[in-house]
Amino acid sequence: MSILVTGSSGRVGSAVVSRLLKEGETVRGFDLRASGRAHPDFSEVTGALSDAQAVETAMAGVTHVLHLGAFMSWAPADRARMFEANVEGTRVLLDAAAQAGATRFVFASSGEVYPENVPQFLPVTEEHPLHANSPYGLTKLLGEELVRFHQRAGKMETVILRFSHTQDAAELLDETSFFSGPRFFLQPRIRQQEGFGNHAAADILRAADPGVPAHVVARNENGRPFRMHITDTRDMVEGVLLAMLSENAAGQVFNLGATEPVDLAGLVHAMAASTGLPVVEADLPGAGVWYHTSNDKIRRVLRFEPQWTIERMLEEAVQARRARLAKTGT
Ligand code: NAD
Repeated sequence: MSILVTGSSGRVGSAVVSRLLKEGETVRGFDLRASGRAHPDFSEVTGALSDAQAVETAMAGVTHVLHLGAFMSWAPADRARMFEANVEGTRVLLDAAAQAGATRFVFASSGEVYPENVPQFLPVTEEHPLHANSPYGLTKLLGEELVRFHQRAGKMETVILRFSHTQDAAELLDETSFFSGPRFFLQPRIRQQEGFGNHAAADILRAADPGVPAHVVARNENGRPFRMHITDTRDMVEGVLLAMLSENAAGQVFNLGATEPVDLAGLVHAMAASTGLPVVEADLPGAGVWYHTSNDKIRRVLRFEPQWTIERMLEEAVQARRARLAKTGT
């Protein structure tokens, strides 16, 4: 096998590359950013997914493509760049893979294609209607359509993985983390809501600000705390490998993520018990986030067995935070 991993400098992609190299595979990375990784079985091409020339170079000799590269943004200003990366980039990559004779193409889609935050029924299964309502979710849905087009063409086997929200455990208690900062810490949440133009939410959060660093428990307008899946990157790596290797995966769509959703109020209070920061609770406009996505199919068909519960992730996050604070002397 010769494996091309897009997004090879990213959270999931870099972990997939490490795992494949450990297994003795030959891997080529493709990303806008160089990884700086040095390994005899690893080479990389830096470039944009929509750059046909760069993609063709990266695709030479490749048998398996793990398409994990994407631009994730919910900021209106990023829309054009996101469609360029996620839709046109996926088209370019699929065409190049088919042309080069790749045999399997695994695509990282997202639960935002349903979308999980407005479920028509729970748990959300692969049969749930696809009514993406965010531009990011739409780019993933269009990406899936391009993948299905190639599956129908019959030249290569494709697998669509609808990824759960995914974190490195160490990110959970890091205020500067793209996802966990705004999700669990008040000040980053205020900045995020301002950035999204959600001024009503930002005002509510600001009014609750105790004037010192604090955690935040977001609830919906009826006081219901958020509930969602948070999956450890290491479990996602296992799912991606199963999708690449298993005969049963060909032509299939799977939800990939942790088995149990996380109650964010409980999680934030557990976080506060270790950080010592106060917890602010805020009822924000709207229905909020409250879902459960089924991973039954991937567990049954591919024997996927997630190992990282939120409790295990949090233990690691606490250690990582201690190490960070010791380093900065705070
Ligand atoms: P990440 O942002 O850490 O990594 C994505 C990588 O793609 C980055 O290294 C980035 O440089 C690269 N990239 C972005 N635009 C590019 C372009 N135009 N050309 C080439 N490379 C480009 O994301 P991640 O958490 O590792 O996510 C991996 C995949 O899973 C992505 O496709 C993402 O959309 C999907 N996904 C992630 C989550 C999550 O919660 N992390 C949830 C659902 C789906």
